[in-house]
Formats: sequence, structure tokens, C-alpha cells
Amino acid sequence: MLMKEAREQIVEYGKKLIAEGLTTGTAGNISIYDENLRYMAVSPSGIPYEKTLPEDVVIMDLDGHVIDGARKPSSEAGLHSVFYKTSPQARAMVHAHSMYCTILACMGEPLRSVHYAIAEAGTDEIPLVPYHTFGTPELAAAAGECLKGGSRGLILANHGMCAWGADLKSAFGLALTMEWCAQVQWHCMAAGKINVLSHEQMQGAFKRYMTYGQDDSGSKGYF
Ligand code: 13P
Ligand code: ZN
Repeated sequence: MLMKEAREQIVEYGKKLIAEGLTTGTAGNISIYDENLRYMAVSPSGIPYEKTLPEDVVIMDLDGHVIDGARKPSSEAGLHSVFYKTSPQARAMVHAHSMYCTILACMGEPLRSVHYAIAEAGTDEIPLVPYHTFGTPELAAAAGECLKGGSRGLILANHGMCAWGADLKSAFGLALTMEWCAQVQWHCMAAGKINVLSHEQMQGAFKRYMTYGQDDSGSKGYF
């Protein structure tokens, strides 16, 4: 089976999306990119995560052609390919309609540096992508523009969130961090008092994260 390991991982992490409360129903989608084949494995459209099998995962090139798989690919396949075209280090992307990121998305708010943990995304602020209909080239193009700023995460206006990583574990970890930070930000906003960290203060967090944990390699985060 082409990209067997990636397909199995997508099935495993689809179940995690539900288990961690990052999404409900068939909302959201996951992909993994193989830089040697130049193909991505992407979750199928509208199939509940608990019922998705490795053979349901679709293999595509970045121009939207299906290479392998009998299912219809995610309606956001174009959005996923934009991540791999725009961010050369990206090897996996998670898109979810997680509650607090979606609340900010519906308030028209980016994710700000309220808590230093946002440093995991590589930016002070996770940008808000202007609203476009889901599953359209317009949404993918708007996301691509925002990715040029170097963030590993995006908030999609009136829709949800995206996170990419050097592997699926890292993309998923950032999705969890973004959701936690969004929850903190929303509570601060609801309380009417918010203290956003300065660019200089965030530089300290970026630097400190470089050597956080037991080894000094790979992307850093708490999940
Ligand atoms: P798919 O089921 O087609 O992946 O779509 C879900 C979604 O989140 C659309 O934005
Ligand atoms: Zn969506």
C-alpha cells in the first residue's frame, strides 16, 4: 500500500482529534507529506474518524491529482497542499474546528501572545486568515498568504484552525497548544483584562524553547 505508514498515522491521529476534544463529527482533516515522493496522504471527506481505515486515506500530488485511493479526498486537500508548497519544512498538517480557536475565529481575533507558550508556533501572533468558503481555492490562497509570515499555525476566520509540523506528532502538539492558548485568551477577553507580551518578551521565550526538554533537537512544545 502506497504511504502505508502515513495512512496508518492519519487514522491513529484522527481518533486522537476526537479523543482530545479538538473536533467533533467529521469536521477537520489531517495530512502527511512525503518529500521524496512529493505526494501527500490526506484524510477522506466526510468519513467519521472512528470508521476511517488506512485504505480510505487518499494519496495525492500537490496539484490536486489523486494518485491512490478510492475515496473522495478531504474538501480541504487544496488547503493542505498550500502548506507544503509554502512552508518547505512542513511534513504534516492538522486542521480542526476546536472550540476556543473557533471562538476567536468567529470574533475575528488572531491568537495573540497572551501566554508565552504561543512561541511554539514560531511567531508572536498566529494570524487570522480572512473568511472564504470552506474547501475553496480562495481559502487555500488566503491561507498561503498568511503562512508567508512564518507562523506554524493559522486561525481561519469563522471556521477553525490549522497547525503544521516537521511530523504529525509536532503538528498535533501545536494544535493542542493553540487550543489551550485560545482558551486562555478567550477567558482574559471575557474578563475584560488582557496583558499581551511584547516582541522582546517573546524573543526570550523563543530562545528558551530551543533547549527545553531532554534533547536539543526537534520542535519544542508541551504536548
Ligand atoms: P472534510 O470532511 O471534507 O475533510 O471537511 C471537513 C472540514 O473541516 C472542512 O473545512
Ligand atoms: Zn474545516
